[in-house]
Amino acid sequence: MLEFRVVAESGGARAGEGRTSRAPLHTPLFMPVGTHAAVNGLVPGVLEQLDAEILVCNAFRLAEQPGDSILRSQGGLHRFMGWPRLLLTDSGGFQVYRLEDRVVREEGVEFHVGKTEEERPSKGRAARGGRGKQEAAGSRQSDRTAKPPERVLWTPERAIEIQAVLGSDFVMPLDVCVSLPTDHATAKAAMERTLRWAKRCKDAGGLAPGQTLFGIVQGATFPDLRRRCIDALEELGFAAYAIGGLNVGESAEDYRATLGHVGPMLPRHKLRYLMGVGRPEAMLEAVAAGVDIMDSIVPTKYAREGTAFTSRGLVNLAKPKLAKDRLAIDPSCRCPTCSRVSRGYLHHLFHTTTTTAQVFVATHNVWFCLELMRNARAAVLEGRFAEFHREFLAEYRRERGDAR
Ligand SMILES: [Zn+2]
Repeated sequence: MLEFRVVAESGGARAGEGRTSRAPLHTPLFMPVGTHAAVNGLVPGVLEQLDAEILVCNAFRLAEQPGDSILRSQGGLHRFMGWPRLLLTDSGGFQVYRLEDRVVREEGVEFHVGKTEEERPSKGRAARGGRGKQEAAGSRQSDRTAKPPERVLWTPERAIEIQAVLGSDFVMPLDVCVSLPTDHATAKAAMERTLRWAKRCKDAGGLAPGQTLFGIVQGATFPDLRRRCIDALEELGFAAYAIGGLNVGESAEDYRATLGHVGPMLPRHKLRYLMGVGRPEAMLEAVAAGVDIMDSIVPTKYAREGTAFTSRGLVNLAKPKLAKDRLAIDPSCRCPTCSRVSRGYLHHLFHTTTTTAQVFVATHNVWFCLELMRNARAAVLEGRFAEFHREFLAEYRRERGDAR
């Protein structure tokens, strides 16, 4: 079970320490995403070298493939994927929300299986950092062994059952996510169902003693609903919270305002998770609002497209002007990629040996996000987060010319 405490605050930003039976946790913290039990382009040894403390996998996807029986026979997710540190599993509430053929009932969410994501009518694109769709290559494989589509019901109890098999350290309940903008009545109904499902997840039991179940805060952009949701979740008793229902179509102002009012409503000494945040500017904005942990596929997705994060904004390594560039992706970066190879070399690889190029850039991008959070943590501990935030943005926005 997670024990978490805030060790320093600087403005709204927090630095915290978590203890679990498996490993410690230092926040603010970025969590690389391995939807199908692998972070694209990065093997566990490299992720340890980059000092990633926790990875995020998707229980819904792993229930689809390889499924309970194989996962059980493999001795759980840590052993299966060769990752000895912390794991958080998402329940699939968001993946289900993106399916247009879904029907949400009190019992659970009903939808078709046996289709690829491409074939399924899906809603919008890339919200919540686009997790799922871009890293869903595995589902193509399953499609080749084409079973006829069948109607299945994904319930709160089922989400807990599979996460108990996975043995992840942090477990997410099934929640009800609505697109934004939405009206008060729709948001209220979704929030209330989320609460009923949170209780069902708690009542389901079956989790191992070391597993921590999160509460998910819904309520769209309405402060009164967010408040009611948090109060009710507190009454049910959760050790950590996820802020749900953001990155689902709201305006930048609504996103900021919602984050701004939800942060202070949450109990101080409980871990706060914001889903789907992986762009450097958004990550720091979340930290400023009091978020402790966040995850996104963005660093690995960008790497596959040849785009690297740098302290001076994005760099597209496929651009012809970089062919003779002898500098590292980011000369100030200490990652394994920047300490060895140049932009010119990576440019060459993106036109010849793409997989290796993607691995090099994924290594850098994930390091960049991890290091950004480590630096943010240091700034909070020194009581100068606002200054750090301001300086980072001034530098990050200086060279927009290289952007994608
Ligand atoms: Zn680097």
